[in-house]
Order: sequence, then structure tokens, then C-alpha cells
Amino acid sequence: RPRNPLELKDIFIAVKTTRKYHKSRLDLLFQTWVSKAKEQTFIFTDGEDQELRRRAGANVINTNCSAAHTRQALCCKMSVEYDKFIESQRKWFCHMDDDNYVIVPSLLKLLSSYHHTQDVYLGRPSLDHPIEAAERVKSDGSVSVKFWFATGGAGFCISRGLALKMSPWASLGNFISTAEKIRLPDDCTMGYIIEALLEVTLTHTHLFHSHLENLQRLPTDTVLEQVTLSYGGFENRKNVISIGGAFSLVEDPSRFKTVHCLLYPETGWCPSKGHH
Ligand code: UDP
Ligand code: MN
Repeated sequence: RPRNPLELKDIFIAVKTTRKYHKSRLDLLFQTWVSKAKEQTFIFTDGEDQELRRRAGANVINTNCSAAHTRQALCCKMSVEYDKFIESQRKWFCHMDDDNYVIVPSLLKLLSSYHHTQDVYLGRPSLDHPIEAAERVKSDGSVSVKFWFATGGAGFCISRGLALKMSPWASLGNFISTAEKIRLPDDCTMGYIIEALLEVTLTHTHLFHSHLENLQRLPTDTVLEQVTLSYGGFENRKNVISIGGAFSLVEDPSRFKTVHCLLYPETGWCPSKGHH
């Protein structure tokens, strides 16, 4: 048992979103896991929203990044996430998408087994092999580099020790120019800075999940031990975790409410377990 246990307040959780998803995606997160980490969760968006502002106050950061789904716009948000984390003085930076459910106790447990002053980059690789890119930062692009990166859609975490070392390529807009040089998306750029430039390796974890994987295959009895979950495509190509409980697929298409009620059955809107 560590003498200085990690506390929730030591973690900075960044949620990337966009104006059009405030209602359809963020509401669900506030109703569920964000309610268990209100002071730790920071929403990075691209448009002012009075209702969101009332709900989350200073924890909403309007990045002034474009609302387009382009590399520039997404890297702009990641760059603001990074800068706000550095400013926060917290021990751990965790990035999430707005279609992630964070199992807060599992996240705390996982990060407790590492030290924030060491170089830690934790996440789920989206490919089963490292990505290869032309090296345009340290050389002229005639040689290539291979590196692993954690898929942004499953969430990933970085220790403060490592984040500080990333500063020359990540702080104050440098993240955007690094991404432009190697012409890769935000999550790949993170991997590039950490693995290729700083030579720190990604710690692969299978506790993080994005909708790029087949979520139905996640064993039901292990769901509550995971760190992040996700969902994809509600229409014909539905990809959600397989878990039964309080709500039907129609009532809870993402399964996030069902997971939340299994984790926190005392929640007001969860069905009570009978009247005895
Ligand atoms: N997103 C964004 N700007 C956009 C579109 C999406 O910031 O114009 C965010 C979105 O809120 C989410 C992440 O990018 O946190 C991934 O988007 P989405 O889940 O729609 O796409 P995916 O890449 O997972 O298929
Ligand atoms: Mn997604």
C-alpha cells in the first residue's frame, strides 16, 4: 500500500468535444461518470454554450479552435489540453473523447501503480504494429521513424514528468507545428513526440477501449474493471459493450447508464432494488 496514495484531485481529465455534441454526448457524461469527478474533468470545446457554462463553470474551456473535423482543428484542441494540464500542476494528464465512459475508481487504481515523476505514457495502441512516418522534425524527411501511439478514442494518460519533457514540441502552439511537420493526427503526434523524439515507450494497456474494436467481445464479467469504455454507431452498425441490467438497449443505447448503475446503484435515477 503506497504511503502517499494517489487521489482523484491529482488527475486532470480532458474531454475533447465540439459544439454539436454538447447535447447528444456530453449530457450523458455529466449524468454519469463526470458526476464522480466534477473537479477533475475539463471540457475542451469550440463554441460558447450558456447551459454547459452553468453546469460546469470554469471547467469548460472554449479553445477558440475551429469546429471543423480537420487535423489542424483537432491538434489545436490537444494543444490547449496540454497547456491547461501543465498550468494545473496536477500529476496526471488523461485525454478522453466525448464518447468515452471513464470508470473513475479503475483509473485511480491503474495510475496508482506508476509514479508521476517518471516517464509514463499509458494507452491502447490502435494498430497491432507501430506506425511509420517520414522524420521531418529531427531530419529532412528522407528517413522514416516507427513508433507506437495510443489511440485517442480509447483515452490515454501521461505523467507530469513526461509531459514536462514534451514541452519543446507540445507547448504553446508547438504541438500544432509538430503535427503539421509530420502530417499526422493529434493522437499519432503525441506518440511521435513521446516515442520517436523522447524515446519513451508506450505502456500498452487493454483496459482502455474505443469503438474501433468490437466492443461486444469484451467479457461481460470484466466490464466494471476496465478503465475506459466507448460506443459507436447506434443505427445499423451498432457497436456497444454487452451488458444487461437496469436499462434496455432502447433506453440506454450506449450502455453507459447501465454501467453507471452497476457501479453506483445508489444513484437517484437508477432503479431501486425493491422496496423491503
Ligand atoms: N470532434 C471534434 N470536432 C469535430 C468532430 C469531432 O472535436 O469536428 C471530437 C468529438 O467530440 C470526439 C472526437 O473528436 O471527442 C472523435 O469524434 P467522433 O467520435 O465523432 O469520431 P471517431 O474518430 O471516433 O469516429
Ligand atoms: Mn468516437
